[in-house]
Amino acid sequence: MANKIAVAEAAAERSFADAYAILFHALSDPTRLTILRHLVGGEHRVRDLVDHLGLAQSTVSAHLRCLRDCGLVVSRPEGRSSWFSLSSPEDLTKLLTVALPLLPVSEGADLRTHLFAHASQGGA
Ligand SMILES: [Zn+2]
Repeated sequence: MANKIAVAEAAAERSFADAYAILFHALSDPTRLTILRHLVGGEHRVRDLVDHLGLAQSTVSAHLRCLRDCGLVVSRPEGRSSWFSLSSPEDLTKLLTVALPLLPVSEGADLRTHLFAHASQGGA
């Protein structure tokens, strides 16, 4: 019985770790982070992100697929295109803000300036 509980606990620990790993995998790519931070400003279509971020359409589409698969981004169809938005904008903003003290010092300083400038402009 005790062994069964230990096995169940180990499995729970693994799925907990897996869930975090999936989340942090989604956040492990600079382009995905750029897209996520841009979506804090509101809903975009692929073509808007291509225009606003100067990225290739195939790049934007591939990253959006990843972000949607892991649940950070949701989409809704409209006509022939889809609108993409953050599933939890407040929580994502909180997570990125909480991580600021963990960033390398010089980049952290730049990011803080950028984030606060972005916040005072009100997003996109
Ligand atoms: Zn934009």
